[in-house]
Amino acid sequence: MASVSIENVTKKFGELEVIKGISVPIADGEFVILIGPSGCGKSTLLRMIAGLEEISGGTVAIDGKMVNNVPAKERDIAMVFQSYALYPHMTVRDNMAFSLLLRKARKAEIEAAVTKAAETLGLTELLDRLPRQLSGGQRQRVAMGRAIVRDPKVFLFDEPLSNLDAKLRVQMRTEIKALHQRLRATTVYVTHDQIEAMTMADKIVVMKDGHIEQVGTPLELYDNPANLFVAQFIGSPA
Ligand code: ADP
Ligand code: MG
Repeated sequence: MASVSIENVTKKFGELEVIKGISVPIADGEFVILIGPSGCGKSTLLRMIAGLEEISGGTVAIDGKMVNNVPAKERDIAMVFQSYALYPHMTVRDNMAFSLLLRKARKAEIEAAVTKAAETLGLTELLDRLPRQLSGGQRQRVAMGRAIVRDPKVFLFDEPLSNLDAKLRVQMRTEIKALHQRLRATTVYVTHDQIEAMTMADKIVVMKDGHIEQVGTPLELYDNPANLFVAQFIGSPA
Protein backbone atom coordinates (compact mmCIF):
# COMPACT_ATOMS: atom_id res chain seq x y z
CA MET A 1 0.00 0.00 0.00
CA ALA A 2 1.13 3.50 -0.70
CA SER A 3 -0.06 7.06 -0.60
CA VAL A 4 0.73 9.40 -3.47
CA SER A 5 1.20 13.08 -2.88
CA ILE A 6 1.11 15.48 -5.81
CA GLU A 7 1.98 19.01 -4.72
CA ASN A 8 1.93 22.09 -6.85
CA VAL A 9 3.27 20.16 -9.82
CA THR A 10 4.12 21.96 -13.03
CA LYS A 11 5.41 20.71 -16.36
CA LYS A 12 6.87 22.69 -19.22
CA PHE A 13 7.77 21.43 -22.65
CA GLY A 14 10.09 24.23 -23.74
CA GLU A 15 8.08 27.41 -23.30
CA LEU A 16 4.75 25.60 -23.19
CA GLU A 17 3.41 24.98 -19.68
CA VAL A 18 1.08 21.98 -19.91
CA ILE A 19 0.66 21.26 -16.17
CA LYS A 20 0.02 24.44 -14.25
CA GLY A 21 0.32 23.78 -10.54
CA ILE A 22 -1.63 20.66 -9.66
CA SER A 23 -2.08 19.35 -6.11
CA VAL A 24 -3.92 16.14 -5.27
CA PRO A 25 -3.49 13.94 -2.23
CA ILE A 26 -4.16 10.27 -2.94
CA ALA A 27 -4.71 7.94 0.00
CA ASP A 28 -3.52 4.37 0.44
CA GLY A 29 -5.66 2.06 -1.63
CA GLU A 30 -7.72 4.81 -3.22
CA PHE A 31 -8.98 4.54 -6.84
CA VAL A 32 -8.56 7.98 -8.36
CA ILE A 33 -9.61 8.90 -11.88
CA LEU A 34 -8.11 11.76 -13.87
CA ILE A 35 -10.57 12.95 -16.47
CA GLY A 36 -10.61 15.82 -18.93
CA PRO A 37 -10.58 16.63 -22.63
CA SER A 38 -7.84 15.43 -24.93
CA GLY A 39 -4.66 17.47 -24.50
CA CYS A 40 -5.45 18.71 -20.94
CA GLY A 41 -2.37 16.98 -19.50
CA LYS A 42 -3.66 13.67 -18.06
CA SER A 43 -0.98 11.45 -19.58
CA THR A 44 1.76 13.91 -18.74
CA LEU A 45 0.69 14.01 -15.09
CA LEU A 46 0.47 10.21 -14.97
CA ARG A 47 3.93 9.88 -16.48
CA MET A 48 5.29 12.24 -13.86
CA ILE A 49 3.77 10.05 -11.12
CA ALA A 50 5.47 7.07 -12.78
CA GLY A 51 8.79 8.91 -12.77
CA LEU A 52 8.90 8.72 -16.57
CA GLU A 53 8.79 12.46 -17.13
CA GLU A 54 10.93 15.13 -15.55
CA ILE A 55 9.01 17.35 -13.14
CA SER A 56 9.44 21.08 -13.86
CA GLY A 57 8.17 22.30 -10.48
CA GLY A 58 6.57 20.99 -7.30
CA THR A 59 6.83 17.44 -5.99
CA VAL A 60 5.43 13.98 -6.53
CA ALA A 61 6.04 11.62 -3.62
CA ILE A 62 5.06 8.03 -3.01
CA ASP A 63 4.97 7.10 0.64
CA GLY A 64 6.85 10.30 1.31
CA LYS A 65 9.68 9.55 -1.14
CA MET A 66 10.11 11.87 -4.11
CA VAL A 67 9.66 9.74 -7.23
CA ASN A 68 12.52 11.31 -9.13
CA ASN A 69 14.95 10.35 -6.36
CA VAL A 70 14.08 6.65 -6.61
CA PRO A 71 15.89 4.58 -9.28
CA ALA A 72 13.50 3.22 -11.93
CA LYS A 73 13.98 -0.41 -10.95
CA GLU A 74 13.11 0.27 -7.33
CA ARG A 75 9.89 2.13 -8.03
CA ASP A 76 6.96 0.00 -6.92
CA ILE A 77 4.78 1.20 -9.76
CA ALA A 78 3.09 -0.58 -12.64
CA MET A 79 1.65 1.17 -15.65
CA VAL A 80 -0.93 -0.16 -18.10
CA PHE A 81 -1.36 1.68 -21.40
CA GLN A 82 -4.08 1.69 -24.04
CA SER A 83 -1.82 0.06 -26.59
CA TYR A 84 -1.08 -3.22 -24.91
CA ALA A 85 2.55 -3.33 -26.02
CA LEU A 86 2.90 -7.04 -25.36
CA TYR A 87 6.04 -8.71 -26.68
CA PRO A 88 4.67 -10.40 -29.83
CA HIS A 89 7.19 -13.25 -29.92
CA MET A 90 6.73 -14.22 -26.27
CA THR A 91 4.02 -16.41 -24.77
CA VAL A 92 1.59 -15.04 -22.21
CA ARG A 93 3.69 -16.71 -19.52
CA ASP A 94 6.92 -15.08 -20.71
CA ASN A 95 5.26 -11.72 -21.19
CA MET A 96 4.22 -11.82 -17.54
CA ALA A 97 7.56 -13.17 -16.30
CA PHE A 98 9.69 -10.65 -18.17
CA SER A 99 9.79 -7.80 -15.68
CA LEU A 100 10.67 -10.25 -12.91
CA LEU A 101 13.47 -11.71 -15.04
CA LEU A 102 14.80 -8.20 -15.54
CA ARG A 103 14.82 -7.81 -11.78
CA LYS A 104 16.74 -11.06 -11.45
CA ALA A 105 14.06 -12.78 -9.42
CA ARG A 106 14.56 -16.51 -8.79
CA LYS A 107 12.91 -19.04 -11.08
CA ALA A 108 10.59 -20.50 -8.44
CA GLU A 109 9.56 -17.03 -7.34
CA ILE A 110 8.80 -16.04 -10.94
CA GLU A 111 6.72 -19.17 -11.52
CA ALA A 112 4.74 -18.62 -8.34
CA ALA A 113 4.05 -14.98 -9.18
CA VAL A 114 2.98 -15.77 -12.76
CA THR A 115 0.73 -18.63 -11.63
CA LYS A 116 -0.94 -16.43 -9.06
CA ALA A 117 -1.42 -13.51 -11.44
CA ALA A 118 -2.82 -15.85 -14.11
CA GLU A 119 -5.34 -17.23 -11.61
CA THR A 120 -6.35 -13.75 -10.50
CA LEU A 121 -7.00 -12.68 -14.08
CA GLY A 122 -8.40 -15.91 -15.51
CA LEU A 123 -5.40 -16.49 -17.77
CA THR A 124 -4.33 -19.93 -16.57
CA GLU A 125 -5.56 -21.69 -19.71
CA LEU A 126 -3.85 -19.17 -21.97
CA LEU A 127 -0.31 -19.16 -20.57
CA ASP A 128 1.25 -20.89 -23.59
CA ARG A 129 -0.39 -18.74 -26.23
CA LEU A 130 1.17 -15.91 -28.18
CA PRO A 131 -0.41 -12.43 -28.12
CA ARG A 132 -1.70 -12.81 -31.70
CA GLN A 133 -3.71 -15.85 -30.55
CA LEU A 134 -5.65 -13.78 -28.02
CA SER A 135 -8.72 -11.56 -28.21
CA GLY A 136 -8.50 -7.85 -27.37
CA GLY A 137 -9.86 -8.39 -23.88
CA GLN A 138 -7.49 -11.27 -23.21
CA ARG A 139 -4.55 -9.13 -24.35
CA GLN A 140 -5.63 -6.37 -22.03
CA ARG A 141 -5.75 -8.92 -19.21
CA VAL A 142 -2.19 -10.03 -20.02
CA ALA A 143 -1.11 -6.38 -19.91
CA MET A 144 -2.61 -6.20 -16.42
CA GLY A 145 -0.98 -9.52 -15.56
CA ARG A 146 2.39 -8.10 -16.46
CA ALA A 147 1.65 -5.25 -14.11
CA ILE A 148 0.46 -7.29 -11.13
CA VAL A 149 3.19 -9.97 -11.05
CA ARG A 150 5.48 -7.48 -9.39
CA ASP A 151 2.91 -6.81 -6.69
CA PRO A 152 3.23 -3.05 -7.17
CA LYS A 153 2.15 -0.55 -4.56
CA VAL A 154 0.75 1.79 -7.17
CA PHE A 155 -1.12 1.08 -10.41
CA LEU A 156 -1.27 3.64 -13.17
CA PHE A 157 -3.66 3.18 -16.08
CA ASP A 158 -3.71 5.38 -19.16
CA GLU A 159 -6.99 4.92 -21.04
CA PRO A 160 -6.60 1.13 -20.87
CA LEU A 161 -9.97 0.37 -22.44
CA SER A 162 -10.14 2.83 -25.30
CA ASN A 163 -9.18 0.24 -27.93
CA LEU A 164 -11.88 -2.21 -26.87
CA ASP A 165 -15.43 -2.44 -28.17
CA ALA A 166 -18.27 -1.15 -26.02
CA LYS A 167 -19.36 -4.50 -24.60
CA LEU A 168 -15.86 -5.52 -23.60
CA ARG A 169 -15.26 -2.08 -22.10
CA VAL A 170 -18.13 -2.60 -19.71
CA GLN A 171 -16.86 -6.05 -18.76
CA MET A 172 -13.28 -4.86 -18.24
CA ARG A 173 -14.45 -1.99 -16.02
CA THR A 174 -15.98 -4.54 -13.72
CA GLU A 175 -12.85 -6.70 -13.84
CA ILE A 176 -10.51 -3.82 -13.06
CA LYS A 177 -12.69 -2.78 -10.15
CA ALA A 178 -12.78 -6.35 -8.86
CA LEU A 179 -9.02 -6.53 -9.15
CA HIS A 180 -8.76 -3.33 -7.16
CA GLN A 181 -11.06 -4.69 -4.45
CA ARG A 182 -8.82 -7.73 -4.18
CA LEU A 183 -5.40 -6.07 -4.32
CA ARG A 184 -6.28 -2.73 -2.75
CA ALA A 185 -3.36 -1.13 -4.57
CA THR A 186 -3.49 2.63 -4.89
CA THR A 187 -4.67 3.34 -8.42
CA VAL A 188 -4.55 6.38 -10.68
CA TYR A 189 -6.62 5.83 -13.78
CA VAL A 190 -6.79 8.18 -16.75
CA THR A 191 -9.83 8.27 -19.00
CA HIS A 192 -11.85 10.71 -21.04
CA ASP A 193 -14.94 8.53 -20.57
CA GLN A 194 -17.37 10.02 -18.04
CA ILE A 195 -19.19 6.75 -17.47
CA GLU A 196 -15.95 4.99 -16.64
CA ALA A 197 -15.14 7.76 -14.19
CA MET A 198 -18.57 7.81 -12.56
CA THR A 199 -18.77 4.05 -12.16
CA MET A 200 -15.20 3.24 -11.13
CA ALA A 201 -13.74 6.11 -9.11
CA ASP A 202 -13.53 6.69 -5.37
CA LYS A 203 -12.43 10.20 -6.31
CA ILE A 204 -12.53 12.03 -9.64
CA VAL A 205 -10.10 14.79 -10.61
CA VAL A 206 -11.54 16.90 -13.44
CA MET A 207 -8.79 18.56 -15.46
CA LYS A 208 -8.81 21.26 -18.10
CA ASP A 209 -5.85 22.99 -19.79
CA GLY A 210 -3.30 21.74 -17.27
CA HIS A 211 -5.18 22.62 -14.12
CA ILE A 212 -7.83 21.10 -11.87
CA GLU A 213 -11.42 22.23 -12.21
CA GLN A 214 -12.80 20.09 -9.38
CA VAL A 215 -12.00 17.11 -7.18
CA GLY A 216 -14.74 15.03 -5.62
CA THR A 217 -16.54 11.72 -5.36
CA PRO A 218 -18.73 10.80 -8.34
CA LEU A 219 -21.79 11.79 -6.31
CA GLU A 220 -20.32 15.15 -5.27
CA LEU A 221 -19.50 16.02 -8.87
CA TYR A 222 -22.89 14.91 -10.04
CA ASP A 223 -24.80 16.76 -7.33
CA ASN A 224 -22.61 19.84 -7.06
CA PRO A 225 -20.54 20.50 -10.15
CA ALA A 226 -18.25 23.46 -9.41
CA ASN A 227 -18.92 25.14 -12.74
CA LEU A 228 -20.47 24.79 -16.16
CA PHE A 229 -17.42 23.02 -17.56
CA VAL A 230 -17.65 20.24 -14.96
CA ALA A 231 -21.42 20.04 -15.33
CA GLN A 232 -21.21 19.70 -19.09
CA PHE A 233 -18.28 17.33 -18.98
CA ILE A 234 -19.81 15.01 -16.41
CA GLY A 235 -23.28 15.31 -17.84
CA SER A 236 -22.56 14.68 -21.50
CA PRO A 237 -22.37 11.25 -23.05
CA ALA A 238 -18.91 9.85 -23.87
P1 ADP B 1 -3.93 14.15 -22.47
O1 ADP B 1 -3.33 12.87 -22.02
O2 ADP B 1 -4.83 14.79 -21.47
O3 ADP B 1 -4.60 14.04 -23.81
P2 ADP B 1 -1.18 14.99 -22.70
O4 ADP B 1 -0.66 14.92 -21.31
O5 ADP B 1 -0.80 13.91 -23.63
O6 ADP B 1 -2.75 15.22 -22.67
O7 ADP B 1 -0.67 16.35 -23.33
C1 ADP B 1 -0.83 17.61 -22.70
C2 ADP B 1 -0.21 18.70 -23.58
O8 ADP B 1 1.21 18.52 -23.60
C3 ADP B 1 -0.66 18.65 -25.02
O9 ADP B 1 -0.78 19.97 -25.47
C4 ADP B 1 0.47 17.95 -25.71
O10 ADP B 1 0.56 18.34 -27.06
C5 ADP B 1 1.68 18.40 -24.92
N1 ADP B 1 2.77 17.41 -24.91
C6 ADP B 1 2.71 16.15 -24.42
N2 ADP B 1 3.88 15.52 -24.52
C7 ADP B 1 4.73 16.42 -25.11
C8 ADP B 1 6.11 16.39 -25.50
N3 ADP B 1 6.86 15.30 -25.29
N4 ADP B 1 6.62 17.50 -26.06
C9 ADP B 1 5.88 18.60 -26.26
N5 ADP B 1 4.59 18.70 -25.91
C10 ADP B 1 4.00 17.64 -25.35
MG1 MG C 1 -3.37 10.95 -22.92
